[in-house]
Amino acid sequence: MTGVIPEFIISNFEQLLIIYNNNCNTCISKKKKHIRQHTIQKKESSMMEDLKIYITITVIIQLCIVLCIANDGENIPSIRRSNIQSSNDDAKNQLCFENGIYFKQLLAGVDYAKVSKATNMFEQQSFRFAEQMKNYVYLIGDLSTGECIVVDGCWDVKGIKRYAKKDGMKIKHYVATHYHYDHIGGEVTMEPFKSKNIKLPGLREFVLGIKTKNRMKRLKDNSIPPIAQAYISEVELEEAAKRTQTPQVYFSALKDYSTLDLGDRIRLTFRHTPGHSPGSMVILVSKIDVDDEPLFMISGDTLFPGSCGRVDLPESDPVSMWDSLQTIKQTYKNDLIVYPGHGYSKSNTTIGNEKRNGLLGITKTQWMSGRKKKKVQKINLYKKET
Ligand SMILES: [Zn+2]
Repeated sequence: MTGVIPEFIISNFEQLLIIYNNNCNTCISKKKKHIRQHTIQKKESSMMEDLKIYITITVIIQLCIVLCIANDGENIPSIRRSNIQSSNDDAKNQLCFENGIYFKQLLAGVDYAKVSKATNMFEQQSFRFAEQMKNYVYLIGDLSTGECIVVDGCWDVKGIKRYAKKDGMKIKHYVATHYHYDHIGGEVTMEPFKSKNIKLPGLREFVLGIKTKNRMKRLKDNSIPPIAQAYISEVELEEAAKRTQTPQVYFSALKDYSTLDLGDRIRLTFRHTPGHSPGSMVILVSKIDVDDEPLFMISGDTLFPGSCGRVDLPESDPVSMWDSLQTIKQTYKNDLIVYPGHGYSKSNTTIGNEKRNGLLGITKTQWMSGRKKKKVQKINLYKKET
């Protein structure tokens, strides 16, 4: 933030100076015109005074903002703080910063899994796929301890870890909103990955490490701990372990209202919101000492700006999804910010917005229209699970 005077003010100011400095020798004989010209000059002169005041106020305000930011978060290590500031392009992220919360929203194909950064054929192909899927990965942590969690880390484990490392944060836990491959990796139900039995990197690599051969042996004799603990709904835990080939012992099961504390400052509260998948969860992030009032929600594939995740998959249930959406609508305040699992439209929304323009504002009849007959037989198992 710097005290820059906007370009349009400078150009208007210069124009006014030119007009102000012009004398009116040519209009002495034309009395009426002369008077009119002087009236204009008088107005312009007063406008210029207003502009001078405006510029002075703008510069003072901007100086104040610079001073406020400089005084903020004094107890946060300077390297970590400067990194966070430089990467904050969303004003809402400031809310996290002020509350000592580390927060990063990363978009597949843009912030990580970038095709231009692919180092082999597999990455080229999978990053192109990731670009289409537009998955959001989240890093949420406690700035005072430097520990964070990764939500739905998938596709490009190195690329995601690079952000945490650059910001001086260590990923301690892996949290999954649900078990679809574009969120946790592992077995892919889409070609060409399926027939080639190619697994996507994700949960397994965050928990066990990228090079797992020797590590697995040492993990089995308990000579080393896992890199991160995985958290997923109790409903999907077994299947997630199977799909990612990660031993169940490294998972913790989540129920409705389960909590996970990061340091002594941040609390994650999980709500079971089935519909898109049987164990879908939304995550409420709050400061522990502020009555658990959530600061924002990570909604996975349960709620997107203006829409939601698919409910026509074999394991989806439109009726459960309706109930989950109603729970969200009735429980959380209108100004609660919601960060979705995919970047299909906007990067975030609020409960209020979704009541006005989205699925939280429609009736059950509207929701169920066309959904009553679930075409189980016709569903292609290998369609995108988003
Ligand atoms: Zn999904």
